[in-house]
Amino acid sequence: MRRKLIAGNWKMNGSLAANGNLLASIKAGLPGSACDVAVCVPAVYLAQTQSELSGSKIAWGGQDVSAHESGAYTGEVSATMLRDVGCRYVIVGHSERRSYHNESDEVVARKALRAAASGLTPIICVGESLEERESGETDEVVARQIDAVLAVMDEESLKGVVVAYEPVWAIGTGKTATPQMAQDVHAFLRQRLGAKSVVAGEKVRILYGGSMKPDNAKELLSMPDIDGGLIGGASLKASDFLAIVNAA
Ligand code: PEP
Repeated sequence: MRRKLIAGNWKMNGSLAANGNLLASIKAGLPGSACDVAVCVPAVYLAQTQSELSGSKIAWGGQDVSAHESGAYTGEVSATMLRDVGCRYVIVGHSERRSYHNESDEVVARKALRAAASGLTPIICVGESLEERESGETDEVVARQIDAVLAVMDEESLKGVVVAYEPVWAIGTGKTATPQMAQDVHAFLRQRLGAKSVVAGEKVRILYGGSMKPDNAKELLSMPDIDGGLIGGASLKASDFLAIVNAA
């Protein structure tokens, strides 16, 4: 049985004051939860998040990580640094990074590998654009994205990753994949993982992301291969985020 994970992706939002309120409200409202909960916050607020959440059941993570270990990479944040501020997770290959920062499948795979080698759990995002879905290329696109990861990771590291299926056309748009549409892609991804490692196929959690909200979370999360959610907009409002946690 895979334990569900609800992870917030705050993106480039927040301030010391707003984060303090949001984290306190999430902490106070967290049910004696049956699922794992995490927030992925802007790098500058990781230390604040660590001090607010230490000792709680909520984990935290970064939104990106360097593919390099250390050195002359101005502006980048290493996996070791994320570990240093207590991160358990890091998002890699979010579609916003793939499209605005030209991150290739290979770069995303190297980032995931670096994160895993440093003891972080990478949340590896994959997903198709609207054009790709409409031309029937969804499976081909997500296969290419996940295969790049499978090519560099051994079975041991692979077992510990999290995958997030995030159709690009559903991110921040209010449009959601139907539970069956999402389930079909999740099952396809699980089969792909399982072809490399039977254990990874069974163990790896595959989250759905793309306008998951309190009113659609339960249905999505009840599908057999949907093991949680990566939540953007709704993670910025404690009551919405907690309602999704409660639905898991
Ligand atoms: C995301 O950015 O990972 C995401 C799923 O955003 P939203 O929930 O706002 O669609």
